[in-house]
This record gives sequence, C-alpha cells and structure tokens, in this order.
Amino acid sequence: MKITFLGTGTSQGIPIIGSKHPVCLSKNPKDKRLRVSILVEWSDYTYVVDCGPDFRYQMLRAKCDKIDGIVFTHEHSDHVLGLDDIRPFYFRQGDISIYAHKRVLKALYKRFDYIFSTENKYPGAPTVITNRIKKKPFMLNDLEVVPINGKHNKLQVFGYRFNDFAYLTDMKTVKDKEVKKLKGVKVLVVNALRIKPHQSHFNLEEALQFINKVNPEKAYLTHISHLLGFHKDVEKSLPEHVFLAYDGLRLTI
Ligand SMILES: [Zn+2]
Repeated sequence: MKITFLGTGTSQGIPIIGSKHPVCLSKNPKDKRLRVSILVEWSDYTYVVDCGPDFRYQMLRAKCDKIDGIVFTHEHSDHVLGLDDIRPFYFRQGDISIYAHKRVLKALYKRFDYIFSTENKYPGAPTVITNRIKKKPFMLNDLEVVPINGKHNKLQVFGYRFNDFAYLTDMKTVKDKEVKKLKGVKVLVVNALRIKPHQSHFNLEEALQFINKVNPEKAYLTHISHLLGFHKDVEKSLPEHVFLAYDGLRLTI
C-alpha cells in the first residue's frame, strides 16, 4: 500500500494569506502546507481521504489521473470544498463513489445541491454514488476499512484504519474502545495542531500521548498550524519513531 500526503496543513493552510509569522515566511518547502488529504493506493486502486479546497492542485501535483472514490472524515470546509473538482475524473470515468457518515452526506447535499439533484441537472455537473459509512467496517474493493470514531470538539469525526495503516485527523477525543481498534497498526497518522491546547484538535502533547496509547512502529503528525513551529525544529524535538508529515511525503506500507 502506498500513501501520499497531499496536504498536511490546518484549515487556512500554511502560509496564511497576509501573515508575517516567520513560519508563514519560511522558504523551506516542508513549511508550506495545503489543506489535509491523503492518497491511498493498493493494487490498481486509488482512493482519496477528504477533498478540500486544494484538491485540484493536489491531484495535478501528485499526477493522479484516476480515482476510485473519496472517503470523508467530516464535513468541515477544509475537508470537502474541492468536491466540484471531481469533474475531470467524472468526465473520464463516470460516476464517482463517495463514502461518508450520513450527517456528512446530508451536509454535502446541501452545499453541492447541483451535484445531487436528479431533476434538470446541469449537463456539466458531476454525479456521485453515495455510500453511507456506519460504525462497522466496510469494503473498498478488496480492502476492509475500519472506521475509528472520535470527536472534533462536539462534532463526530471518522478516522480510518486500512490494514497496517491508520489515518486520524481533526480529533480531540477518542474513546478507549475506539483506540482498541487501532491495536497492532504499524503506521499511524494523527493530527497535531500546535503547542498550546485547542478546543477541537489535539495539540502536540495530546497527539504524542495518543501515539503512546496506540503504540505503532511509526507515527506521523498532520493538520499542522504555523503555530507548531518550523518543520526542522519540531521534527528534532520528537521521539525517535514520530515524524512530522509534509506535503508530498510518500510512504510504502
Ligand atoms: Zn480540518
């Protein structure tokens, strides 16, 4: 299985428009972060987890010209706003499969009504096949995916386990019975926003505590704000098996 980090930044991305913060002014490409998303590839299959406002550029940058579906974690703008840009895939491949919690599907119906409308549909609008994710495992082709239920402040969010790899973003609390579903995972990705606590995201300390609980071989941090600091400084401060993800990072699992 191959994982590509398409984006590793928090909701505004890094740099933030107009910011003079040193991290936003950094020349290190690893300090430039688009909105969070990953590409998951195995056999001939390619899935994207979330499709935020940078989706179009991320697909071009990763040279991705075919997707088998989009799996959503939750409905916040930084995770869904690129849905209109599935059009090139739709024109070539036909209807695109999307997977999400029923509340997230409802939010998508509202925001992208023209994609879901069945009457007088605009000819250039894409069509999707909706798949509702419940709390139990589901299949993406031949791969079983285990949803990991967590909370982003009060909002329910799904993380996902794909065999030995798990991807959790926008988490603030995860119950122990959900942590158990991550047992034996080799590579864990989890969100770490900044140093100071935040109401709806793990800060660095909470992310490291969570990694300790899961105890993977390796862990990568994502959904990073400029307030976490420079990539090279933060990475030095981390335990040996924990790394900061960066845009374009590829893992083979
Ligand atoms: Zn987010």
